[in-house]
Amino acid sequence: MDVGDRVVHYAPEQPSSLPELTARLFPAYQVDGGRVYLAGCQWEDRLFVRLRGQQNGRAEELWTDDHGQPLLPELVQQLGLGEARPVTVPPPYAPGMFQRAIEQARERAAGVFAPGGETSVEEIAAVWCKFVEGKLRFTIGSAWVDLPFSGWARTVEPPPFICPRTGRATFHLAATDDGQILDASAVGVCEVTGRRLPADELVRCSWTGKQAAKELMDFCSLSGKPVLRSELRPCSVCQEKVSPAALQEGVCSACRGLQTVSKADPRMARLLAEYPLLDRWRRWQLAETETVYILTASGLWKKLLVVVDKETLELRHLATGNRLQSHWQPVEPGQYAFVLRE
Ligand SMILES: [Zn+2]
Repeated sequence: MDVGDRVVHYAPEQPSSLPELTARLFPAYQVDGGRVYLAGCQWEDRLFVRLRGQQNGRAEELWTDDHGQPLLPELVQQLGLGEARPVTVPPPYAPGMFQRAIEQARERAAGVFAPGGETSVEEIAAVWCKFVEGKLRFTIGSAWVDLPFSGWARTVEPPPFICPRTGRATFHLAATDDGQILDASAVGVCEVTGRRLPADELVRCSWTGKQAAKELMDFCSLSGKPVLRSELRPCSVCQEKVSPAALQEGVCSACRGLQTVSKADPRMARLLAEYPLLDRWRRWQLAETETVYILTASGLWKKLLVVVDKETLELRHLATGNRLQSHWQPVEPGQYAFVLRE
């Protein structure tokens, strides 16, 4: 006898249409300036088998999957298999697969209901559960990204989007102006250009307080803090580019705070080792910033200003002046050697 003849078909309460499925998935996402679509979805009816029988006068029930493997009680509960209702038209299935599944379930039942003896299966139910697999597509402007999902139609949950920039799981998406779809909290706006950028490419200007793209920033030579390049001003003495916060009447706080220094000072010693000709000058004064040493010295009539990179000891600026006047005359780089020899 064909076992199919004795089998009753059931299905649990479960979403079985696209609108029902999308109603489960879509509301989880917030897509700034865009939306979520279903980019593909496959439904599959998977078979579970319930056998009811008797053992020593006691009613027994056994659930198996389509390979005769027993089901965990939690799965039976999650999928609502116990409350499944009969269906008049079962989903299309391959008869060979179906018979094999029923036979395997019966073999399993033989060991459970009446070990070593005759089985007394009284009822066989085929319960069909929908399994879905598909892709959600998020589009913002011309940018898009897919997110696969899969699960039982009854229990499938909207999967979180993993931000490719931060690795954070999120349900709130936004796009940068160059078309990267990211976790919304990883997208920021440059307050200078208005462009939407990855937040980690934005830096706050220590002078204006504006958050702006890294490439618009430079560092104040004095504080080492980021300042919008367009805001940096050269100090009229050392020519270092500094935050307006450091300037008073065009002179930076380092140049206003030069301190007398002796040749024994390790910083002076380093400098004299690099530029021995400086030894001819007297009355050294020094200040340092994050990046440079600023030095002044005097001769009999002339005065000298030297700005040197702290790390490389490279000359960044050289100027001369008259001891009786306050202003400085910058020296062309080509003339540095000549001036140092004087
Ligand atoms: Zn200065």
